[in-house]
Parts: sequence; structure tokens; C-alpha cells
Amino acid sequence: MKFENSVCFDDVLLTPQYSNIDSRKKVDISSFLGEYKFGLPIISSPMDTVTEYEMAIAMAEPGGLGMIHRYNKIEDQTFHAQRALMDPATVDVGAAIGVTGDYEERACALWDAGVKILCLDVAHGHHILVKNAIERLKGIFGDKIHLMAGNVATLEAFNDLADWGADSIRVGVGGGSICSTRVNTGHGVPTFQSIEHCSYSDRNVTLIADGGIKNSGDIVKALAAGADFVMLGSMLAGTDETPGQMFVSERKKYKVYRGMASRDAQVAWRGHSSSPEGISTTIPYKGPVGDILKDVGGNVKSGFSYSGAHNLEELQAKAKFILQTQASQRESATHILYRQ
Ligand code: IMP
Repeated sequence: MKFENSVCFDDVLLTPQYSNIDSRKKVDISSFLGEYKFGLPIISSPMDTVTEYEMAIAMAEPGGLGMIHRYNKIEDQTFHAQRALMDPATVDVGAAIGVTGDYEERACALWDAGVKILCLDVAHGHHILVKNAIERLKGIFGDKIHLMAGNVATLEAFNDLADWGADSIRVGVGGGSICSTRVNTGHGVPTFQSIEHCSYSDRNVTLIADGGIKNSGDIVKALAAGADFVMLGSMLAGTDETPGQMFVSERKKYKVYRGMASRDAQVAWRGHSSSPEGISTTIPYKGPVGDILKDVGGNVKSGFSYSGAHNLEELQAKAKFILQTQASQRESATHILYRQ
């Protein structure tokens, strides 16, 4: 599974392999985020249209993790963290912070609220400000806190963040469904390609695939290529548990989903905007997120079974990828509706 060229999720398929798994119940898709074990290797994005306490509780229910966004006052974010941690379903909750301004104060308030997993949430993570913030926070909390950092696109960046002290790293630059970074700045690497490259790291750090994951097939591909977790925005957006009101237009129900660097989001959290790198959009309302997570979890287990894998370690050892031509990409999607 070595690609010299740039490849996206849709460019590849996993070849089915001999399987002795006679029930999806025998497939274990759990994964470790540092010392924390999660039954479902899915983390919700720290975005103001994805994760506050309702999503964090709903993510914890099937064994995933909610990452509470940072685009609010410190007391609002700690409220959401505390509210999530109070729920008997909830074991762990994560919360995002920045690398400038109030980030230290925010980190301390979140720690006091019971948060043990912090996410240094930055678009370009291979950056001196991230290095400084990791060192500063490790100086304050030592190894008591799990520090997630990112986002990075290359193996060099992944190793640097690991050496600076990150416990887990978000991999993916410019691939998010609401992201305009590649268009506006000309920079980025297809998320699948970044995962594959970063998977060669010899550092003992958790890899989180983030941005551009559209369906459960992409989740299986990301895990097989070396990710320990996936982070999801659009797949969870539009559900009951996301912040924001559902609204009706021409008898159809919608919710807002927006990039945190979009003009709308910037104006909402800091009163003005500059150099947007994301868009704001509406997406069809999807109902309870638990229904989506149930289907996704089942599909991911089926994916493990197609590779003959009982667990993540076996999946990553056995995975065989092939490249798809344009014709095979068409065949891979449901295609009866488009036949001439
Ligand atoms: P999605 O799952 O493809 O919708 O991507 C979600 C991811 O996009 C998040 O986890 C972030 O890493 C990233 N993201 C969030 N807001 C923005 C933005 O405004 N610009 C670029 N990337 C963003």
C-alpha cells in the first residue's frame, strides 16, 4: 500500500479477503486515544454547528467522543463540558482550545470542569505557535492531560508535533466538506494521502483522520490506511444533537453547517471576518445522530469483515488497496439511475 501519487478516498478500494468472521458481533472496532479506550473510533468535530453537550452525550452513547468547540466564552464552553460529563452515559468528553489569546485560561477552566482531553484546534498545525502552546500546556499539566494537536498533512509535520509532545494528531489539511483552504491558498494534501504517509511514523502517537470523510466506506479506508480514529463534521451535521435550529424551506427540513473559518462563523465569534477559508451552507435535516452512528458502526464492522479483520490491528496489517479508474469509480457508486 504505497502510493507515490496524490490519492483521495475515491481513488482507492480495499480488496475483499478471506474471512472466518461469521458474525459482525465478533468484530471489535475499538481504538485507543492514548490511554483512553473508545468502542467506536469516531470523534465529532469541534465546530459550532456540530459539537456542544448534546452531541458529546450522543457520541459517548455508542462509544465515540465529542469534541466541544471553542468558539464561545470560556464559561459557555465549560458549561457544555460539565453538562456532558454529568450525563450517566458519558465517560469522557474532549474540548478544543486555540493557541493564542485566552487558551491557557481556557485550558485551566476546562481542566477544572473535568476535561482530560484537550484539542489544540488550528488549521495549520505545523507551526511555531502550536509548538509553543504544546510545550506551555505540557509544562502546566504534564502527562495528566491528553493533548490532541493539528492539523497536519505530512509525515514531517506529524513527527514534529509528536516530538513537541502531542499525544494525538489530526491529519488532513484542506479536505473538509466546507473548506476552501485549497482554493483560497493553493495548499493542502488529499486526506487519504496524508493518512497513508503519516502512518509510516515510528512515533507512539494516535492518528486521527480529519476532513473529507463522506461515508462509512471512507471511514474503513481511513482506518485501514493507518488512522486510529476518524473525525467527522458533515456526516454528523444536520442531526438533532447539533447546535442550531432546524428550519423548513419548501416543505423540506434543514439545518446550518458551516466551516469555522467561514465568513459567517468568524463574524459570529469575533464580530468581523478576514480571509475566509470555509463556507456556510444548509444541509438536509437528518434526525437523531444515534441512528446514523448505529448504521455507520455496523457498516464499519462489515468493512473489517470484508478484509478478514477481527480488529483494527488486523485491518491495518491485512488491508490491500487498489487504485480505481474513472470507470470503476462510476461502477462503485449506485449507478442504475444514471444509465443512458
Ligand atoms: P467534514 O467532515 O468533511 O465536514 O470536515 C470537517 C473538518 O473540516 C473539521 O474537523 C475541521 O478539521 C475542518 N474545518 C472546519 N471548519 C473549517 C473551515 O472553515 N475551513 C477549513 N476546514 C475546516
